[in-house]
Amino acid sequence: MSKVHLLDDELINKIAAGEVVERPASVVKELVENAVDAGASQVEVELLDGGKGLISVRDNGAGMNRVDAIMAIKRHCTSKIHNLDDLFQVGTMGFRGEALASISAVSRFTMLTRTAECQIGSKIGFEDGAADDQDWNGDVGTQIAIKDIFYNVPARKAFLKSGSAEFAQCHELMQSLALSLPHVGFVLKHNGKEHLRVSPASASKIDDLVGEAALRQRSEDVLGQQKNIKFCYLHHQDKYGQVEALISPPGFERSTGKHIFMFVNGRYVKDRNIRFSILRGYHSHLLKGRFPVCVLHLTMDPSLVDVNVHPNKAEVRFQYGQEVQSLIAVSIRDRLRAGDWASPSFDDD
Ligand code: ADP
Ligand code: MG
Repeated sequence: MSKVHLLDDELINKIAAGEVVERPASVVKELVENAVDAGASQVEVELLDGGKGLISVRDNGAGMNRVDAIMAIKRHCTSKIHNLDDLFQVGTMGFRGEALASISAVSRFTMLTRTAECQIGSKIGFEDGAADDQDWNGDVGTQIAIKDIFYNVPARKAFLKSGSAEFAQCHELMQSLALSLPHVGFVLKHNGKEHLRVSPASASKIDDLVGEAALRQRSEDVLGQQKNIKFCYLHHQDKYGQVEALISPPGFERSTGKHIFMFVNGRYVKDRNIRFSILRGYHSHLLKGRFPVCVLHLTMDPSLVDVNVHPNKAEVRFQYGQEVQSLIAVSIRDRLRAGDWASPSFDDD
């Protein structure tokens, strides 16, 4: 008897889901990025129990017609690339066509969606490997609700942390997305309480979305809880890239590093080396074990950086890693040496 056989689709999707869906925050990331790719100017996220009970993401983007909505939850189905050439110039946040297939394989999944061309929208359900579709009446856009994440993968479910720990990750992710996407409005609610609300920058001001004023505006909106902080602005460039950042002045310190936000070519990343370079830039301005508040954008030739090393992990690979690290550290060091920061307040979290 032969032993080698092809796995069925349901099992393939569940296994593959392990790559894309690690925890509620990874689901939120995929769904919000899809909303932004669909041209949404408003994205509202609601969570129950850190996303373990419910993750709901509603957008006012283009929506999907019935055929696309049914296709969208199948593996390797995407509207974002067609051929290998497209792969090297993707302008969208997603392109692998894996997220919805993976998420729906490990949750109770419902999607409500309508395009402007369709009079009647669609409600797509997916549970226990079976999809169903119905008519649905509602606004143009898409709303996806994920209930009971990992209900059918107990080993993964057991691995989830407490609701508040899972929420903390979702919150940090939403802050990062909001910091990097000023043209989109965001709302985040957890167990009925609002934790983030920012309005989209108006279309007429789209050209103003760069530069100090724009960076300050969104950062203050998103990190508004950082009471009285007067960020220092810095802008520095060398042949390896350009750094633009708002950094907290000496004396304003935090006990955790969760207020350090980093972006490479507009994409949110969490990179140990960049983080280390930021701390190195502060040097003696920071006590050991204390952290600054920082929103740092690194812009560089896209061919010298790979921000997509892994579909889920936000790590980055630079061709000139050392040089980029010095660029960051030196620009922060010089800014702090230049002084002229407004007197900081000394409150802490
Ligand atoms: P990818 O984003 O890599 O293409 P996904 O599985 O995340 O793969 O989504 C599959 C497809 O479903 C997308 O290419 C897009 O066409 C469609 N889609 C997903 N989410 C939305 C949304 N919120 N609004 C409109 N279309 C969407
Ligand atoms: Mg996607």
